[in-house]
Amino acid sequence: MRSLLALIPLLLSTFLPFSLAAKATAQAQPAAGADPVKALVGRLDLEKYKATVKGLTQFGDRRQGTDRNRAAVDWIEAQLKSYGCPTERIKYVYEPPPPNPGGGRGRGNTDVAAGGGRPRGVRTPTGVNTDPMKQPNEKLRALNMQPTTPGPREMVYCTKVGMTRPDEMYIVGGHMDGHGWGEAANDDGSGTALVMELARIFSGPDVQTERTIRFALWNNEETGLNGARAYVDQRQALQGKEDPPGSRRFPEPKWLGMIQHDMMMFDHGMPRPDGTMNPEQRPEADVNIEFQSNSKMAQGSQALAWTLHAANEKYATDYPAAVGPHMTNTDSTPFMDLVPAISVRENERGVQIGSGWDPQWHQPTDLYTTYSDKDFRLGLNAAQTTLGAVAELTGATLKK
Ligand SMILES: [Zn+2]
Repeated sequence: MRSLLALIPLLLSTFLPFSLAAKATAQAQPAAGADPVKALVGRLDLEKYKATVKGLTQFGDRRQGTDRNRAAVDWIEAQLKSYGCPTERIKYVYEPPPPNPGGGRGRGNTDVAAGGGRPRGVRTPTGVNTDPMKQPNEKLRALNMQPTTPGPREMVYCTKVGMTRPDEMYIVGGHMDGHGWGEAANDDGSGTALVMELARIFSGPDVQTERTIRFALWNNEETGLNGARAYVDQRQALQGKEDPPGSRRFPEPKWLGMIQHDMMMFDHGMPRPDGTMNPEQRPEADVNIEFQSNSKMAQGSQALAWTLHAANEKYATDYPAAVGPHMTNTDSTPFMDLVPAISVRENERGVQIGSGWDPQWHQPTDLYTTYSDKDFRLGLNAAQTTLGAVAELTGATLKK
């Protein structure tokens, strides 16, 4: 009995990828009258997702306050427009805070991780690479060479306007800036590409939704969530206001929820005792959905997290989802006391990524070529999860 049971996971892991691939192909042409959400999720495609991540990596690490960052904003905007998703820009000014000699260097030997979780098991050091010479690719090193300068910043979003409830909106976000002298492929090309792919699918000519969806590509996440904070500061008070009056136009629909995507692809498990990593995506890899239990909107945020969990059960082809209470350090934070807010990731941010589970994080090795199809597929499963949930929440249907 025991040995037979032990065989089951092995058999599943051997045969599941093939059966799932066959199922995914069958879903590509849904029958008329089929679940429209399932049909929309079926429009996600691994190769298209990879191509969008790759497109973002042509701008190197996309560090905020540089020409390569501004070129990436222009490129993202052109893609969104080509999908038929009308774009707008947020403008703000970023002045770096004065250096803080006392703090800012890790959390020491504390037993509590960022966000409130408790780290366990093997932990390896993390940090941000600032040494150009650690990037062996000379072309990429040259691309990333221009230093950041303080001053005006821009970031782009696009909007799918709801038919019957244009005044209510879900915000789907990722951050397009990065650092560390690589290509910021996973942090956060993977989340940016996910948001762009959802914008493409929801902007399809036969897709309609009852409620509005906004697709936001935040800038300045890595410097302290400054882009998302600028959005909240500038637009929070505009929520639900019809402008001009009587037009049924709502420049800032009432926020119903915010779903952030930041590092979507790498779940190889805990570092080994010698500090090395499993080179393969672990078979138990999952999509981590986090809310913050200490936020004012914890109850609504938890409900939103479980909605995504249910959508994962229903629509994700390969990897399951897990819900946790320690959301931290990403662009959903400025929203979490105002509106249900969650983050979707490859791992828990505080106890797992913070303990070294992603060795490419902020390093020169965060390159498109670092990741295998199994890694990209975890990102695609997160896209299936969010797309399914948002399609349900906004009442998406397909025109016949
Ligand atoms: Zn990030």
